[in-house]
Amino acid sequence: MSADRVLPTFVCASANPDKVYEIEQLLDGVVHLLPRPAEIPDVVEDADTLVGNARLKAMAILQATGLPAVADDTGMFVDALPGELGVRTARYADDRPEHAETPYAANRAKLLDALREKDCASEVERAAYFVTVVIVCFPDGSELIVEGRCDGHIALAERGSRGFGFDPLFVPSPGAFDGDQRTFAEMSDAEKNELSHRGRAFRALASHPFFATLEFPCR
Ligand code: IMP
Repeated sequence: MSADRVLPTFVCASANPDKVYEIEQLLDGVVHLLPRPAEIPDVVEDADTLVGNARLKAMAILQATGLPAVADDTGMFVDALPGELGVRTARYADDRPEHAETPYAANRAKLLDALREKDCASEVERAAYFVTVVIVCFPDGSELIVEGRCDGHIALAERGSRGFGFDPLFVPSPGAFDGDQRTFAEMSDAEKNELSHRGRAFRALASHPFFATLEFPCR
C-alpha cells in the first residue's frame, strides 16, 4: 500500500462520540472517514440481530448521502443473564428512570445488581463477551460484513475512568497482557483497541481483500 494512495471514502454512520473516537483511530490510514451529517435523523434500531441494526444504520446514511457508509453495532452477552443484553445492550436498564439521563451508568448498576442477585461471585460465573459487527454498504448494493469478539468477565465493582459504556466493569481475558486484571476503563486507548471487540472487527475490515484489490483512487 503506497503512502500517497487515495483512500476510499466512507461516511461514518455512528453519531456516538465515544464510538466515533475509537473508529477514527482504528480506520486511520485505511479509510477517509466522513462524519455523519448532522441533519440525518437517528435510526430506530429495532432489528433483532446486531448485523440487522448495523445495516439499518448504514443504509440510512447511504440513502441520504449516496456514499458508501460504515456502521457498527455492539452487544454484550453475559453468560448468567441469557437473552437479557445482546442486541438490547444499549437499552438494558431502560426500565430504570435514571436510564434516560445516564444510560451507561444505569446499565452498569443494573448489571451489578443482577449478578449480585444471582450470587455470581467468581470470574467463571461472571463470564461475558462483547461482539461488534461492522458493515459497509455500497451504492451498488454490495456489502462488507466483519465481526470482532472479546471475551472476559464482569468485575465486582467499577474500576477506572477511561472509555465508555461497560468499560469500568469489563475485564478482558488475559492474553496480550498476561495476568492483567484491569478493566477496559483502566487501559490506554491503544491497549483497549488491541484487545477489544471493536478493535478486532475494524482490523478485520482493514485486512479485508476489498482494500487489497483497490488499485485506483475511489473517492
Ligand atoms: P452500540 O449499539 O454499538 O452503540 O452498543 C450498545 C451498547 O453496548 C452501548 O450503549 C454500550 O453500553 C455498550 N458498548 C458498546 N461498545 C462498548 C465498548 O467498547 N465498551 C463498553 N461498552 C460498550
